Amino acid sequence: MNLPISETMQLIKDLVKIPSPSGHTTEVIAFVEKYLKEFQVKMKRNHKGGLIVTIPGENKNQHRMLTAHVDTLGAIVKEIKSSGRLMIDLIGGFNYNSIEGEYCQIETMRGEVYSGTILMHQTSVHVYKDAGKLERNQKNIEVRIDESVHTADDVRKLGIDVGDFISFDPRVEITKSGFIKSRHLDDKASVALLLNLIKTISIEEMKLPYTTHFLISNNEEIGYGGNSNIPSETVEYLAVDMGAIGDGQATNEFTVSICAKDSSGPYHYGLRKNLIELAKRNNIEYKVDIYPYYGSDASAAIRSGHDLVHGLIGPGIDASHAFERTHKASLENTAKLLYYYVQSDMTL
Ligand SMILES: [Zn+2]
Repeated sequence: MNLPISETMQLIKDLVKIPSPSGHTTEVIAFVEKYLKEFQVKMKRNHKGGLIVTIPGENKNQHRMLTAHVDTLGAIVKEIKSSGRLMIDLIGGFNYNSIEGEYCQIETMRGEVYSGTILMHQTSVHVYKDAGKLERNQKNIEVRIDESVHTADDVRKLGIDVGDFISFDPRVEITKSGFIKSRHLDDKASVALLLNLIKTISIEEMKLPYTTHFLISNNEEIGYGGNSNIPSETVEYLAVDMGAIGDGQATNEFTVSICAKDSSGPYHYGLRKNLIELAKRNNIEYKVDIYPYYGSDASAAIRSGHDLVHGLIGPGIDASHAFERTHKASLENTAKLLYYYVQSDMTL
């Protein structure tokens, strides 16, 4: 049976603390590699920097693939202002208001790390009358570096330059009431679930019905994480990524979300039916949902021309791409569904 969910939550905590905006994920992939090493699974890196784990199953002609992405939202230095502040460009799809006031980290090409805060240029209410009303956009939002810098040259002397990666403080916290709140639960919560699934398979010496690949992808937030390195034998491809919560959504922070359709269109009907059947049979709390503005590594794989049965499930994440939160119940339900899924018969 599955590992205790507290172990998964601790792993999520470790993962979100490692900065990994899309385009700069070497450190987090190395962490994942190190974590998996003791289970002696076959793994390799792809050229994009992602990691593929393969566990042989009884059927070697029809394969299964599961993916979760380890890259996150972030930013990059666009311009050094004459004031010594930084103008930033966003990595991934989110709004400037969701990072206003956030602590951040700037990493230079040489590897030095500086701390800072993301602020509206017009933050001080003692100086700017309209501070609350001004638009949160690229022009008004800037990074205040925690160094004595007054000019662009001062900043360059630190080694900071255009193109340097900026990551956000995740502010991760596990509450007594069973919530985990943090940035980047999308999709590090699912990465932790897959890693602990691999661990469970290894500990239990589970016999998988099909050879199964686990892709820890590293470019999902920019659209092309899981669209490559899919072995030609792969029939089924399941993306494990966050369930979207909001008005009109069924998904919540306590259940596993099974996606029927997102912006890319419907996911494979047969696979969806199988996932629902597995949930019902094993008393797993689930919700079926449509995510209005969403794409996944599974839809990216289909778009890139792969002939696959594709699906999407994941824990329900509140306030996604901003101040995210989920509950251990949602992680538990997702872990259970994954556990039974990898042992189930294929859809075709
Ligand atoms: Zn995601």
